[in-house]
This record gives sequence, C-alpha cells and structure tokens, in this order.
Amino acid sequence: MKFLMILLCKLLAFVGKLVNKGSSLPGKIVLKLCPNILQKISLPKYVIAVTGSNGKTSTVEMIANVMSENGLKVVWNKEGSNQIEGVTTLLLKNSDLRGRVCGDVVVLESDERYARHTFRHIKPTHFAVTNLYRDQLTRNVHPFWIYDIIKEAVDLIPNAELLLNADDPIVSMLGHKRDKVCYFAMAKNAYCTSETDALYNDCTYCPVCGNSLAYEYFHYAHLGKFSCESCGYASAEPKYLVDSADLESKRISICGESIDLAFASRYNVYNLCTAFAVCSIVGIPHEKIASSLSSFIMKNGRVVRFKAGENEGMLITSKHENSTSYNQSLEYVCASKEKFTLAIIVDAISRKYYTSETSWLWDISFEKLENSTAEKILLCGNYAYDLATRFEMTKIDPSKIKVIPDLDEMAKEIAAPSDGKLYAITCFSDKDKLFSRVEILNDQI
Ligand SMILES: [Zn+2]
Repeated sequence: MKFLMILLCKLLAFVGKLVNKGSSLPGKIVLKLCPNILQKISLPKYVIAVTGSNGKTSTVEMIANVMSENGLKVVWNKEGSNQIEGVTTLLLKNSDLRGRVCGDVVVLESDERYARHTFRHIKPTHFAVTNLYRDQLTRNVHPFWIYDIIKEAVDLIPNAELLLNADDPIVSMLGHKRDKVCYFAMAKNAYCTSETDALYNDCTYCPVCGNSLAYEYFHYAHLGKFSCESCGYASAEPKYLVDSADLESKRISICGESIDLAFASRYNVYNLCTAFAVCSIVGIPHEKIASSLSSFIMKNGRVVRFKAGENEGMLITSKHENSTSYNQSLEYVCASKEKFTLAIIVDAISRKYYTSETSWLWDISFEKLENSTAEKILLCGNYAYDLATRFEMTKIDPSKIKVIPDLDEMAKEIAAPSDGKLYAITCFSDKDKLFSRVEILNDQI
C-alpha cells in the first residue's frame, strides 16, 4: 500500500508538473486513499518547521540555501504549499519506494493557522516561531488569537525543541513552562527606543498574568526587552544573539559572526537570526553560516528596480493588511537623505480573497513621512481615498499629497521629469499592476 501510494504521488506530481497544476493535488488524492500515509514514511534526523507573521518564506529560503551550500540535502517546500496536502506531495515525491525521505533535513514553511493540522500527520523535531504581528485582520484576527492556534500545534509536539523569539512576549509565551526551548534575540543597539515606535503596542499587558508589562527598551512594534514585576515573566536568555546592527554599513553580527545585509533594514534581522540558529542546530559551523548568509541574495523580489520615463525607481514590496511590513518599508524610504517621490498603491487589498477592510491603514506609521525629505506623495489605486483620509490625520503638508485612483494616471505622474529619487510601496497583489506600466530593470537587491 505504502509503495503504491508513493508511486501514485510521484506519478501525479509528474503529470501535475506537465499540465502546470498546483503541487497540493497529488497529496490530496493520496491522503483520501490512505489518510495515515505520513506516519508510514521514515523522516530524516531533522524536521524543521518555521512559522510567524512576517518573513517565513524568506527565512525558509535562507535556511535551505545555507544548508545546501554546506553540503546538506534539503527537502523543503519551495513552492510554499504549506498545508498538509502540499507537505504530503513534497515528502512522498522525495521518498524512495521503501518510504524513506531522501534528504538530511526537511524544512517546512508552516502557515500559522495550519500547523495544528499538519502536526497531526508529521511531528517536527524543531519548531521555530519568528514573530507574531497584526496581519490580515479578516483572516487572522489578532496576534493573541493566532497565539492560541499555534499553542494547539505546539501541544501536539511535546518532544520537539522550540526555537522562539525572546524579544517577542507573545511568541516567548509558547516556551513558558516548557523544557526544550531555545531562544534568539537582538541586543540593545542604536535603533532602540524607550517607547514603541509603532502607533500601537499589542503587549501593554503581561500575557501571563494581565498586569502591566515593563520594557527596558523597544526594537520596534511590541518587540524588545520586557519583564513583568507581578509574575516574573521576562525576556528569556537567548542562545543566539544579534550582538550588533549597523544599517549604515548594512552589517549585523550574530554570535560574533559578521553578516552583510542585502536590504538595510532591522526588520529582517529576526528572520536572519532564526535561519542562523536553525543552521547551527543541524551542525553547520557559525563562520560558514555567516558567510553563506552574506552571499545569499534574496530571491523573493521584495525590492525591485524599475524605470518610469527617465526616472529610476525602487519598488519595496510590502504586505497589505500588515502595518509592521509597511512600517519597515516606510523606515527604509524615510532614511533617504535626498528628495524623493513616493507612490503608495492600494488597489486590491488581497490577491487571495476579496476584502475591502481598511482599518490596517490606521495602524501604519505614515507619520514617519512628516520629517522626511519626501517632495511628493502619490496615493494610488482603488483605495486612494481611504489612504487620503488616513493622511489627513498626519501633519504632512497637504500640498505634497496627490490622490490618483487611476493607475494609468499614476504611471504618467511617476514618469514625469523629476530630479529626486522615486519609490513605490505596494503589495504582492498589486505589484504587477505597477510592473505592467513601467520598465523592470531586473537587478533586485
Ligand atoms: Zn505577569
């Protein structure tokens, strides 16, 4: 039976590839015929699952690349199909006919909400949780709601080692009163603040006892060094520490090893540190991890250069419905010392489902633009007027703001002669609408 199922899955995956069909269908069919197929296959020594609100795809990509570069055979869900059907296809496709997964390590990107289903079929040896932010309100509600769901997944894997963000009081709580936990964190650095730099703090109260949570410093959002006087819940001692961060020179250091950043932002640092920790756990020496991470260029196209008329622009892909992702992009743009034009495009909120919910616009720190060198801010797409209402609450000079719902009009505006820099911020769902109206220069950074 096992032999037949593996053969069937390989065959279906092969046919699926030929007709360009999704990667989850073979797994779906096999699971219908044999629901416990995954319990019958033998997995390698390390099965690592990664979840979190922001950056899990790039974290898994970094892990897989560093491991491959250092001689390990990695089985990972490259296509990002992170529900059980996709995972089943992945594992059976990479098994021999006796049911042994052919690889040294399995690395799985795990959707926050589906891990509790996936872990019924496959038990990871390590489970990393990078961060929990407000993300896709209509789907994910609130970080604490997602916490409860991830906790269900964690309770299914009592023998797994957890790898948790010690600076995130919500994530850290998953390790509360649990034995096998390893933490990572970022040390205090020049970018820390005494109050959160975001418009809200999702962890004002201790998630364990409900009393006030005190912060020694914040990195951003609700992340920083925290402690509760009432019950003693506090940032755990990290095994993997980002010792220093210097965005000017685009360099950070983890456990004493220097790493060059592709994108000068401190928001990706926790994902880098997660990748570093996972690679260390499977036995790759720290200096090798650092050098592989440094040479790894992000392949997910977060930043793309383009040309509009004679103007060279830079698209910084952000996630709609996720204020932390937008704040990261705004921080990058606002670091510019030169004058710039910024086009913010919100045309479709999601590419996966229909929603017109725009409360997340009110969570974004557009106020960061008040003291920037922005000369012109273009609010574009179907939701241009929702953006305009949000911008009315800022102190940005209204003469700098232009509301352009029509994207063809926007394309003309950004192509007009200008001597400053040009930035665009939008989501995966809308970026092709920009690309179809400009020339892509292809050199991603
Ligand atoms: Zn407490």
